[in-house]
Amino acid sequence: MSPNEQDPRIVVLAGDGIGPEIVAAARGVLDAFGSFDYDEQLIGGASIDALGTPLSDDALTACRSSDAVLLGAVGGPKWDTTDPDAPRPEQGLLGLRKGLGLYANLRPVKPLPALIDASPLRRERIEGTDLLVVRELTGGIYFGRKSREPDSALDECVYTAAEVERIAVAAFEAAERRAGGTGTGRVTSVDKANVLETSRLWREVVSGMAERWPAVELDHLLVDNAAMQLVSDPSQFDVIVTENMFGDILSDEAAMITGSLGMLPSASLGDGGPGVFEPVHGSAPDIAGQGAANPLATFLSVAMMLRHGLDRGTDADRVEAAVEAALGGGLRTADLFTGSGGERRVGTAEMTEAVIAAL
Ligand code: NAD
Repeated sequence: MSPNEQDPRIVVLAGDGIGPEIVAAARGVLDAFGSFDYDEQLIGGASIDALGTPLSDDALTACRSSDAVLLGAVGGPKWDTTDPDAPRPEQGLLGLRKGLGLYANLRPVKPLPALIDASPLRRERIEGTDLLVVRELTGGIYFGRKSREPDSALDECVYTAAEVERIAVAAFEAAERRAGGTGTGRVTSVDKANVLETSRLWREVVSGMAERWPAVELDHLLVDNAAMQLVSDPSQFDVIVTENMFGDILSDEAAMITGSLGMLPSASLGDGGPGVFEPVHGSAPDIAGQGAANPLATFLSVAMMLRHGLDRGTDADRVEAAVEAALGGGLRTADLFTGSGGERRVGTAEMTEAVIAAL
């Protein structure tokens, strides 16, 4: 279908490795919902090879004026270097987040019934888990002042009340949305307020905001306890909101509940502008070009794009249901295949066809 003036404009950043394969598959899924105005741009190693930079000004400008950005993955051994002055594919991702002001990273974690035995955690521990990690993405220790002496090093951690407030708004709103009409949403704010001054500010600001969402319950957890609770009793959580570094660590820990990296979507959002929607996994250079990549994390990222980026929640629900249907029918890409009865091993193309058929 050729695009019309009013079609949503999607910048597609396929990237490297399996990126082009999974993004092409995701476009097939999106096309089932009508026509979109796609704008393909380069990022990562592909952009370094063609333009000498991991993210060109033209690509960033195209992203800024789009409705949403769909990203595959970046990186690979070809661009691994110890030369500090050489361009690196990952700089493209950081440049994109910074350039679009994407301060909220949303990672839902919900083990699908068909895959529950693929998790390293026991079935009875993870059943019923349906949580969302909301991670602050542009502040804290990763962005503070850094310095290095021969025998000492400094990484400064700074948060302003405004930075805490805007990420907390994202968390309270997500809890309200996830609760639907029931109003039983819950936000767990994770910090280290017994030790860190930034955490005491964090807790004060988040606590002061709770009355604006009377239907949402708020509690606080110290990060060490949260790490333990995530594996011992993950189904107690609804929305977890936390600062950049704690969120980085806790979201990877939570990811293991679902069993496979090939299943996890993410959304990075700012204030009103376009968001970036991408699978959590990397460019998987070991399986690139083989037609073996699991496209489901990218399809679930498309669902997040429809829900958060294009305000099409019903379409998002349909994508998620179609992914569950394909898995329910026994189809498994290599990363999900356990060899147990009822499973059939398939490649990217067959999995994609099954999801589109289920739509
Ligand atoms: P990776 O996620 O690419 O791969 C880890 C393992 O998981 C590999 O065995 C891979 O084959 C498998 N895997 C990942 N996604 C899969 C999928 N969709 N289907 C089937 N199997 C899948 O992580 P890595 O190997 O540590 O990194 C490879 C490259 O990706 C590096 O250059 C790294 O910097 C980059 N990376 C990019 C991102 C990103 O673009 N957001 C994230 C992480 C890593």
